[in-house]
Amino acid sequence: MANKTQKELVPKPKSRFLRIKCLNCGAEQIVFGCATIEVKCFVCEKQLVQSTGGKARILTKISEVLS
Ligand SMILES: [Zn+2]
Repeated sequence: MANKTQKELVPKPKSRFLRIKCLNCGAEQIVFGCATIEVKCFVCEKQLVQSTGGKARILTKISEVLS
């Protein structure tokens, strides 16, 4: 019997990194585009990303999309 060495490729969800800018204080930080957790500004703690049941909702300005 031959061993199967093929690796199963797990389809990755579309995942991008986003550079978002806090509208409150102007601080920028990079978040995962499909983050399912809430992200707060590390400076002023304003909520920047809201978790909406599996999909992240960006509550602030996206300054750049990094692929
Ligand atoms: Zn802020």
